[in-house]
Amino acid sequence: MRGRTPTTAPATAGEIFRLVRDGEAGTRTEIGRATGLSRTAVAARVDRLLAEGLVTEVVGAAATGGRPAARLVFHATGGTVLALPIGVSRTKAAICDLTGEVIAEDVLDQPASVGPEKLIAAAIPVLERLLATAGAAESGIRGIGVSIPGTVDGGSGSSIGVPALPGWEGVSLPPLLSGRFPVPVRVDNDVNVMALAEHAAHPGVDDLLMVKVSTGVGAGVVSGGRLQRGAWGAAGEIGHTPVHDGPGVGCGCGNVDCLEVLASGAALVRDLSAAGRDVHGVGDVITLVKQGDPDAVRLVRTAGRRLGEVLAAAVNLINPAVVTIGGDLVGAYDPLVAGVREAIYRQSMAAATQDLRIEPGLMSGRSGVTGCAILVLDEVLAPASVDAALSDPDV
Ligand SMILES: [Zn+2]
Repeated sequence: MRGRTPTTAPATAGEIFRLVRDGEAGTRTEIGRATGLSRTAVAARVDRLLAEGLVTEVVGAAATGGRPAARLVFHATGGTVLALPIGVSRTKAAICDLTGEVIAEDVLDQPASVGPEKLIAAAIPVLERLLATAGAAESGIRGIGVSIPGTVDGGSGSSIGVPALPGWEGVSLPPLLSGRFPVPVRVDNDVNVMALAEHAAHPGVDDLLMVKVSTGVGAGVVSGGRLQRGAWGAAGEIGHTPVHDGPGVGCGCGNVDCLEVLASGAALVRDLSAAGRDVHGVGDVITLVKQGDPDAVRLVRTAGRRLGEVLAAAVNLINPAVVTIGGDLVGAYDPLVAGVREAIYRQSMAAATQDLRIEPGLMSGRSGVTGCAILVLDEVLAPASVDAALSDPDV
C-alpha cells in the first residue's frame, strides 16, 4: 500500500477497498501481505465490503493442480452516481456506474436563466425517469456530482458571482437535490470537472491543462495527479487575463483586452458579424471555418494565438505533459490550435515544450457528465468515506 509503514494503524475496510479498486491486491492472501493484517482481520473487512456491494468475488479457472483462489474485484455496477452538468443554455442529467461509465442520460429543456430552484426541480423528474428506465434502484445511488459554469464555493456548493448565471450567486445547490436524493452532493466548476474527465482518460499523465473554449474561456489544472482548485476555487480562471497586442476592447470586469473579450466564441461571433458574416452562435463560426472562409480562419487563428499567449505562461509555470483543448470551438480545431501552438512554442521554455502534447480533448462532448461522476466518486469511494458508510448502522 502506498505510503504505508509498519507503525501506522491497522488497515481499514476502506483502505482494503482502495487496494482492490486500484488493482493492487486481488486475493485475501495478497491483501494480508499488503496490509500486514491477520487472515481473520482480512476476512472480516472483506465480508463487510462484499455485504456493502463494493467488491465482488470472481472464481477464476483452476490453476493446474491447485484450487483456484477467489479474486476480489471492484463491483462497478454495485451502485450508481447521478451527474448534472449545468450549462447556460443546456443541462444534461445522467446516471453513471461506479467507474463513471454512463448508463443513461438525457438533456433538460430549460436554460439556467430560470434559476437554480426551477432548474433543479426540473432535473429531478428527469433523473427519476432515467433511474426507472435503467432499472436502477434509488437505494444504490451513492452520490450526485454537479457542475456549473464559473467559480464555485466548494464548502457551500454555490456559485460565486457568475455573470453568465444571474440568480445563482450564493444559492447552495446540494440541499436542492439532497431533499429528494439523500446522498452526498458535490458541486464544482464546469472546466474543473472536464479536467477530471480528461485526467481519467489519460492514464499515466499526472500534469495536464484542460482548456475550454466555448462562449467563454477557462482552464482546469491537474498537477501532480490532482485537480488544483486553488485557494478560493478560482485556479484556471484565465478568461480575464489581458493579452498584449489587443485592439483595446473593454471587458465587463473593468480591464481591457481580456482573453474572454478577444478569443472566446462570443468574441468571434461579434468580430465575424462586424466583418459582415451572418453568424449568431459558435456553431456558425465553426461552419464558416469548415467552409474555408478566410476571415473566419484568420480570426480563429488569432484567437488561438491569444489563447496560446496566456497558456504559455501557464506552461512555463506548471510544465504540463498535455494541454487538452475542449469546448464548442474545438469544432474549429485546426486554425485554433495552430495559433495556440505558435504562441506556446514561441513563448515557453524549450524544457517545458519539447515533449508537450497539445491535443483535442479525448472526452469531447462527454466530459461534463463523466467529470461530474468522477467528482463525486472521488469523494464517496475514498477510504474514509467507505469506512464511514460501513460504520453507519442504517447503510
Ligand atoms: Zn475581463
